[in-house]
Order: sequence, then structure tokens, then C-alpha cells
Amino acid sequence: MIKKYVILGGGTAGWMTAAAFARFVSSENAQIVLIESDAIGTVGVGEATIPHIRAFNDMLGIKESHFMQSVNATYKLGIRFTGWGNETSDYYHPFGDHGFPIKGVGFHHYWLGAKNAGAGIAPFDSFSVGNVLAREKKFSYPSANPDDVLSTFSYAYHIDATAYAKLLRTYAEDRVTRIEGQVVTVNKNTETGFIESLTLASGQCVEGDLFIDCSGFRSRLLGQELGVEFQSWKKWLPCDSALAVPTEGNVVMQPYTHSTAKTAGWCWKIPLTHRIGNGHVFSSEFTNSEQALRELEANLSGDMIRDPALIKFEAGVREKTWKNNCIAIGLACGFLEPLESTSIYLVEVAILKLLELLPRDCKNCALEEDEFNRQMENEYLKVRDFIILHYALNDRPEEFWRHCANMTLPNSLQEKIDIFKTTAHVVEYDTGLFMPPSWLAVYLGQGLFPGNLDSRLTESNIHEAIGLIRGMPAHLNQIVSQLGESATSVAAHPPASRMSLYGIRR
Ligand code: FAD
Repeated sequence: MIKKYVILGGGTAGWMTAAAFARFVSSENAQIVLIESDAIGTVGVGEATIPHIRAFNDMLGIKESHFMQSVNATYKLGIRFTGWGNETSDYYHPFGDHGFPIKGVGFHHYWLGAKNAGAGIAPFDSFSVGNVLAREKKFSYPSANPDDVLSTFSYAYHIDATAYAKLLRTYAEDRVTRIEGQVVTVNKNTETGFIESLTLASGQCVEGDLFIDCSGFRSRLLGQELGVEFQSWKKWLPCDSALAVPTEGNVVMQPYTHSTAKTAGWCWKIPLTHRIGNGHVFSSEFTNSEQALRELEANLSGDMIRDPALIKFEAGVREKTWKNNCIAIGLACGFLEPLESTSIYLVEVAILKLLELLPRDCKNCALEEDEFNRQMENEYLKVRDFIILHYALNDRPEEFWRHCANMTLPNSLQEKIDIFKTTAHVVEYDTGLFMPPSWLAVYLGQGLFPGNLDSRLTESNIHEAIGLIRGMPAHLNQIVSQLGESATSVAAHPPASRMSLYGIRR
């Protein structure tokens, strides 16, 4: 029987795990301990989320208004990508659909058909109501009526991740024993290799049955102690550094994350209610920190609150995320750059899968271990491919971008792109991110326009639909213009009782 769970790390991953365990693990059966070190601190970044965080908060019973006020949250309807396809391109990736199927055929086939016929139609992202809201800096809750066009988008938040960890700490405090201190020795059983206890610098020894490694990039237990190798994806994701800096922010809130391509990477801009988060993710092989800093500074719109912090990283994941009686969650398990705001999502997925598979006894949990590893590997690979896609589909002139456009892609991604190029069909995953509307946003936003379309589409079908397609952006603009509230004012007063629905798919 597992009598004691030990979580190492008090960053976002550690406290999200602790909160979920506090909610679901019965106190009669087991004790939960979390160890964190003030001296080491947390990575201190991670501000953009995707809609799944709403399901996670719902699961804990945290109301949206309380959450938003505690973490200085603003709404996020998607991501705006400036300069990604080429130097002048500018498109939005929404949490939502573009258009609707016509006579059973996906909308994008009609859009491509009309475009290929020279009908002079609006860019693909004009056909998503979430994007129109974002562009107009407005916010509305999605409608629950499936016949309403306002039901076709979803939303997430921009948050102060440190404040989120604090909120979860308060939530979990009654149930979780928190120990401050640095783990200096990991004591393992010499025969089985299972972890038995952790010794802190103070000399205190913390015993446990199941250890959850949320120790960040250090991967103190899974990586350092159990020797699980790091599988690097640097050859496809060459960015290895980030400069992060908050600035004063009194601007009208944009309800989207803004990502702007730069010489050898990209800059993010994330509005919170009390400041703006900014950063520059770049490849040190193609630029240096001084040049990257200059490009970051040029992208800022307010005074810096502190000096920029340089964070070094490598894209990749541990070969296993569960070994023996140790499971790594968060940065201790792997990292993919924050281009699609997926790290907190990957933490949520790991926690949920762990709760689903939580063994009664660690000595006989090989089946749970294999299943967890299989599912987490799948999640990481799918996110990886989608992130690489943004780099692969570019027509920018700089050396870094030429390198990305010409690199050999993972087969799983190359096949997907080839099918789209040949048939305009988006391969759909059974599990894991991302769903077809997201792939379409990037394919068509970055200029990959297939010629061959769904075989059911005839020239006369397209001709008939052109009027409808032409009129749609104006129709969406009109709907949005009638929605009164700016994103700034809704975020300042989120409805008190609002909770969202479980089962959000993206
Ligand atoms: P950390 O925050 O590093 O926490 C590690 C914890 O372990 C700390 O409490 C530390 O004290 C403790 N610890 C370590 N070693 C020991 C020891 N020996 N003894 C005791 N305690 C120890 N994610 C998103 O979802 N959206 C984003 O927009 C986003 N942006 C990012 C931008 C950048 C530049 C980076 C690098 C990451 C970003 N992330 C983002 C990822 C996100 O920051 C992390 O996934 C998230 O913060 C979880 O981090 P963590 O808890 O795993 O690690």
C-alpha cells in the first residue's frame, strides 16, 4: 500500500500535482508531502495557457472569478503569429473553428477552391469568430447553443504562473505537508533501485513510497538519480535560450498571445492585468544574447520592471517519465518551447493520467508504468510535431529560418504535411493535441495552399458557395460589433459564479 506520496518541487508543476492529490487522494489512506527549496527557486515564467486549464480548475472546484483575480488573469482567444510564414504574414491561431462544413465537405476545401479560382476572398483566419473577437480586442463567453456561431470558439487565460502556484498552495495547504529545504541525497534500495527517502541539507530525512519529481530542469530524481536519459529534439527545435522580462502595462488588453518572428527565433508578448510578460526565444547557434536583447527591447511597449533574465534550455523529453516508484511531471520530464503554450497543459495531462493509473502498491506497477509512459510519450510527440510545423513552413530569408525550412522533419510530421499537400486532408489524432482546426490555422496561415481538394467538390459547388464565403467575414464582424464589452472590462469583472465545463477538447 502507498502510505506516503512525496512531491519534490514547488513550481507550477509541484503545486498543481499537490492540489490534485489533495483533492483526490483520501487522507485516511495516505500522507502527501511537498518539498521545495527557496534557495533554488522556480523557473518563474509560464504565462500563456490553453483551454484545458479551465477543466483543471473546475476539477479542483476553483471558481473562475477567484482564479482570475488571484492570478491577474486576462482572457486568451488564441495566438497571433506575425512574420512567421514570411516577413509580412500575420495570422491568428484561435481556439476554435473556421467556417463550417458545407454539404459534408470541410470549409477549408471551399475556401481553397475559391482562392484557387481567383475569387479574391479574405484570409482564412477571418472566418473564425474567435479571431474576429481577438482582433477587435473584445471578449465574450462562448455560447452553449451549438447553433450559435458564438459556440464555435473556446478560450484560455494569460496568468501570473507564480501567483497560480501560490493559489494552489493555499488550496492544498490543509492536506499537504510542505517542507522547505534542499534535497542533497537520494537514498535508494540497493537491490531494486527504488527511492526510499530524500535527505535534506538540514539533515532531515523524508521517507516515501511514491516520489513525484517536479524539480524542474534539474530532474533531480528521474534524470540525475535514476539515470533516465534525456532525448534531445534540438535538431528540429534549435532554439535553446530565452530572455524574459515583464514591463509596465497600461495598454488596452489584447485577448491573445502575440508571437513575432525575429532573426533567429521569436518574441512573445502576453498581457496580464498588472503587467505585460515579454520574452525572446532564440537559437544561440544563429544569434547571440546581445543581439537577442536588442530585438527584445525593440519589441517592448512599456518600461522594464526588472532586468531581463536569461534562461537556457534544450527541447526534448526523458526517455521514460515513470521509472520504478518515481514519476516526473513538468520540466523535470521534458520541455518544448512555449510557442503554443503547451507546458502547463502537459503538466495537467500527466497529473490526470497519473490519477487514473495510480497504483495501490508500487512494487507491482509495471503495467501502470508502461501505460503512463506510452501515453505521455504520445502527448509530447504530438505537441513536438505541431511546434516544428511552425518552423518548417517558412519563407523567411535569415540563416536560421532557411535552416528550419530545409531541415529533415520527423517522419510523423512529414507524412502529415505530405497528405495535406496532396489532398488538403488533415490527419486527425485519436488522442493528444492538436486537432484539425489548429493544423489548418498554421498550414493556411503560413501559406501552404494545396491544389487538389476533396473529390466531392466540383467547380459548380465552389461557384455556388463563393457568395456565401465572401459574405462570411462581414457577418462575423457584425456579430462581434454588437458584443459590447472589451476584453479589458470583462477581465476586470468576471462573472462571480461562472465555472466552465469538463471535457474541453482544446
Ligand atoms: P520549476 O518552476 O523550475 O520548479 C522546480 C521546483 O523544484 C522549485 O520549487 C525548486 O525549488 C524545486 N527543486 C529543484 N531541485 C530541488 C532540490 N534539490 N531540493 C528541493 N527543491 C528542489 N508554460 C506554459 O504553459 N505557458 C507558457 O507561456 C510558458 N512559457 C515559458 C517560457 C519559458 C522561457 C520557459 C523556460 C518555460 C515556459 N513555460 C510555459 C513552461 C513553464 O514555465 C513550466 O512548465 C512550469 O513553470 C512548470 O515548471 P516546474 O514546476 O516543472 O519547474
